[in-house]
Amino acid sequence: MAENIARIREEIEAYSIKAGVFAQGIELVAVSKTIGAERVKEAYDAGQRMFGENRVQEYVEKSGKLPQDAKWNLIGQLQTNKVKYIMENNAFLVHSLDRLSLAEELQKQGEKKNRTTDVLVQLNIAEEQTKSGLLMGEVDAFFEKVTRMDRIRLKGIMTIGPNVSDEPAIRRVFARAKQVYDRLRREVKTFSYLSMGMSHDFGLAILEGSNMVRVGTAIFGKREMSAPLE
Ligand SMILES: *Cc1c(COP(=O)(O)O)cnc(C)c1O
Repeated sequence: MAENIARIREEIEAYSIKAGVFAQGIELVAVSKTIGAERVKEAYDAGQRMFGENRVQEYVEKSGKLPQDAKWNLIGQLQTNKVKYIMENNAFLVHSLDRLSLAEELQKQGEKKNRTTDVLVQLNIAEEQTKSGLLMGEVDAFFEKVTRMDRIRLKGIMTIGPNVSDEPAIRRVFARAKQVYDRLRREVKTFSYLSMGMSHDFGLAILEGSNMVRVGTAIFGKREMSAPLE
């Protein structure tokens, strides 16, 4: 486990050099969905602090078993009725704000519980039907509404690379996400994360400007249970 994490960190470093950025500026989220708390704790003991989960119940159980300074990222599609749990458990960041009804629930529960949630807006850049996230044409109207919600802190953009083996096609999607990120960052001062890149494509994502990669399989090995992407 420690070796896997060290290897990923070395790869991040190599790609960051190619990209001309500091490796320290790139966050590694270890995607621990479906992985038992004991193995996640091994990653913690190897120095890893950021973890990614896609099921709220699994996140709540695991976060209770790991030390308090682990930082939990919610990377899967969120049902509105689960919002209260992520607030009660101090999630670090929600990567998957993909619709207005979810923003409204984050705002409503945030007012009730006096909590502000850090979120990334998920974009579906390749407009794949199997993926959630805003389409490019919806971005501006969405931001106009959500920037008025004072219980939501907009921290950046998340996207998932397209399901193709064509590297230039993957890079084009990441490059478009970076363009949107840079454009919005001029207006939204709290922007700081561009979350893109998984086990098979995080190098390409870093070359296109990602500063937060979400890596599961390459750290923990193949997952036994099937876990849907969104
Ligand atoms: C599962 C998942 C990952 C990690 O995928 P790996 O291929 O195991 O690295 C990253 N992002 C999201 C949104 C996921 O659902």
